[in-house]
Amino acid sequence: MLHDPNVLKPTYTRAGVRTAAPRFTIPDGEMDPTSAYQMVHDEAMLDGNARLNLATFVATWMGDQADRLYAETYDKNMVDKDEYPRTAAIEEHCWHILGSLWNVPDVEDSIGTSTIGSSEACMLGGLAFKRRWQLARRAAGKSTEKPNLIMSSAVQVCWEKFCNYFEVEPRYVPVTDEHPMLDGSQLEQYVDENTIGVVAIMGVTYTGMYEPVKEIAAALDALQAKTGFDVPIHVDGASGAMIAPFLQPEVEWDFRLERVHSISTSGHKYGLVYPGVGWIVWRTLDALPDELIFRVSYLGGDMPTLALNFSRPGAQVLLQYYQFLRLGREGYTAIQQESQDVAKYIAKGISEIGAFDLWSDGSDIPVFAWQLKPGYTDKWNLYHLSDRLRMKGWLVPAYPMPDNMSDITVQRVVVRNGLSRDLADDLLDDIRVETAWLDALETPMPTQGQKPGFHH
Ligand SMILES: *Cc1c(COP(=O)(O)O)cnc(C)c1O
Repeated sequence: MLHDPNVLKPTYTRAGVRTAAPRFTIPDGEMDPTSAYQMVHDEAMLDGNARLNLATFVATWMGDQADRLYAETYDKNMVDKDEYPRTAAIEEHCWHILGSLWNVPDVEDSIGTSTIGSSEACMLGGLAFKRRWQLARRAAGKSTEKPNLIMSSAVQVCWEKFCNYFEVEPRYVPVTDEHPMLDGSQLEQYVDENTIGVVAIMGVTYTGMYEPVKEIAAALDALQAKTGFDVPIHVDGASGAMIAPFLQPEVEWDFRLERVHSISTSGHKYGLVYPGVGWIVWRTLDALPDELIFRVSYLGGDMPTLALNFSRPGAQVLLQYYQFLRLGREGYTAIQQESQDVAKYIAKGISEIGAFDLWSDGSDIPVFAWQLKPGYTDKWNLYHLSDRLRMKGWLVPAYPMPDNMSDITVQRVVVRNGLSRDLADDLLDDIRVETAWLDALETPMPTQGQKPGFHH
């Protein structure tokens, strides 16, 4: 070690650390690992604090045992089913557990998989719809040229991606004052023989509200009686599919509704696992065309897989199982209830400030959004409030509503496990103080429009 020129040098006086790092080309030489560590560590320090990031739905806290398990298993590749058969088996346990949470009628006849997140899960759900429709159309000697998928204009961007990447026409049902979400009332204008499915969202990302899946299903039943089109539903339950089974068990949104063919969720949102893991379950084997499934050898046998990725981390799947074991139904219910109580508490506090109208109050998923009261002020808007809060460390995004309502700006808070009452009070205090600061301005803030880079 004595020949190492860095050994006796204080960290920030070392070669490499004393000069700016190359950004876009690989360095010619090596650097000692402690210096490289320090440089990456320091640059990441400039990111926002994940725990104060109230924009994200994604888990930012799991606890010590989970952190230890993660550190022990980060080297596992999910795709190596033959080499890591127990991780593969745990994946199977997990989607079966989810299927049963979502009231799948016959566990033996269902099928599911983990994914890297809801986006991949939604793509797989969409692909199953598309292929099923193609097979039926071909069998009937009809054209498979123009598939379409029906969804709210407030869908998460992954559905726009699905339609773009896999060449399906998106048919967006606009959100309006009268119909603030997809509720089944206008479906007749959108469904035709080329409709591969309808997406219903449990937990709209903009506002946190549930779309009424049962009403959408009933509307499609009525439509089928009239037109013969048998249109399946995929429930995008990225957040809500891990909330509703615990907090609103009476709401029928899942496989209790026959029209629901598949459900996806993000294990890394209210599944309470670090990013990235998602899940999808199909109600029957029949709902997932066999030709989309690849068989890999597994313990000398055969394992069905379907995925867009090949390699991906296996640790998150183990963490999901850890959470199921650790928390059980009781623990999940307690945690989701606490998040919801905190969300409602903050929402109420915000509604009492006088400047804001709530869009939602956290009573579906623990997420709520508000807008400035119409006519409240010309001096500032929610982007300014967002900036002011950022100076205090809070990341609370403001963004426009979709399409028809894009003149309305909302601001949203996602309450996750780990946002304690105590922190909630700090947040409310800061929102009060910053609102008062903006109100007291003598000259208006410079206008500020939508910021680039916010992806709902
Ligand atoms: C977050 C979200 C997604 C995308 O999920 P990822 O796990 O981030 O890929 C899709 N749909 C809805 C409704 C979401 O909230």
